[in-house]
Amino acid sequence: MNKIAVPDEVLDIVRVLERAGFEAWCVGGAVRDALLDDPHMDYDIATSARPEEVLRLFPRTVPVGLRFGTVGVLDRRRQLHEVTTFRRDIATDGRHAVVQYGVSLEDDLARRDFTINALAYHPLREEWRDPFNGAADLTRRVVRAVGNPAQRFREDYLRILRGLRFSARLGFTIDPATWEAARAATDGLPQLSAERVRDEWFKSLRTARDINELVRLWRESGVAAAWMPELGPASEAAGVIEPGERDPVLLTCLLTSDPVAVLRRLKASNQEIGRAVALGEALPLPDRSDEVTVRRWLSRAGAAAGDHATLIRWRTGQRPAWALVAEHIRQRGDALTRDALAISGGDLRSIGLEPGPGMGMVLDRLLDRVLEDPTVNTREQLLSLAREV
Ligand code: ATP
Ligand code: MG
Repeated sequence: MNKIAVPDEVLDIVRVLERAGFEAWCVGGAVRDALLDDPHMDYDIATSARPEEVLRLFPRTVPVGLRFGTVGVLDRRRQLHEVTTFRRDIATDGRHAVVQYGVSLEDDLARRDFTINALAYHPLREEWRDPFNGAADLTRRVVRAVGNPAQRFREDYLRILRGLRFSARLGFTIDPATWEAARAATDGLPQLSAERVRDEWFKSLRTARDINELVRLWRESGVAAAWMPELGPASEAAGVIEPGERDPVLLTCLLTSDPVAVLRRLKASNQEIGRAVALGEALPLPDRSDEVTVRRWLSRAGAAAGDHATLIRWRTGQRPAWALVAEHIRQRGDALTRDALAISGGDLRSIGLEPGPGMGMVLDRLLDRVLEDPTVNTREQLLSLAREV
């Protein structure tokens, strides 16, 4: 097999480990992606050194996953590289693993999920270890579980979701036995934690080549039935979304019939759930695209305005006329909220207004005037208007 170009920082880490008498290999997604001509920096390193030895050998480390034997090593440029002790997972219960060190590279590769993720490359000796024929599967473009797929999914049901993600991201098919085992294992999916499912869903949405393919896989595998029955069939809209636009919250709104329920179930953040709530609120869209109408609407829609515009563009395949106007308004920085008025509560007190509902009403009237005509937003003009009202 070919050599792959491993960054110098990674070579340095491997050298330090080997000079201290340990084995160290490049493993995981970066090796896979390098073979697919999609090189990136974040090589994972697997080593025979125990975590405490890794901590001792490198001056700058971060204990990123000590429980699983992972130490983050910072290079000169403060980039983090994950160094993980060869391990075997004993006593897996479908969610968590108890790990055992003191095992070989082969054992470590055997506990990995898919053959394409179970290759090891020695960047100094330029040697390969590929006990599960991952390189052949990369050529055949197949996602295939390492070992007995049913057993591997029982050990960790998240692997099912990971398999779907890799398939959708790489455009690979799923090996028939792996696919059958995934479909048969879906009754174990409910025991996954919502956080892990959410992370996979979001990551899958961001990386899928074709979102519809991901949707199809989630539905046909039974993952959607377990975690997201609101996930609708593939849609024309989702087919055309550019990779640069993969906002997982907005995509969940596009693809599911009850995004608020989905995001709550997945324990998304309050901010993320809030975005879905705002999108679901009945806020009539601007019926015209003149500046005053659009400014008034932007003022009411607040932070949700951009999400509304994007979602409509996805759904209809075109940008609504008002969205273009909205962009000009934003670029110009027209005042859209009370806070953006060129006048303060102190200014209003100086003309005899007391803080309270009365002052609030005056501010609303002033904002209304400024939404009609942004040039009015100067202190002098607003003060004289305030005297009138
Ligand atoms: P990417 O980072 O591009 O999503 P990756 O393959 O690097 O893909 P990671 O989650 O970073 O995925 O994990 C690194 C490696 O650890 C994987 O390639 C795989 O060998 C192994 N791995 C990760 N999660 C699991 C799991 N749940 N079960 C078995 N092996 C796993
Ligand atoms: Mg990775």
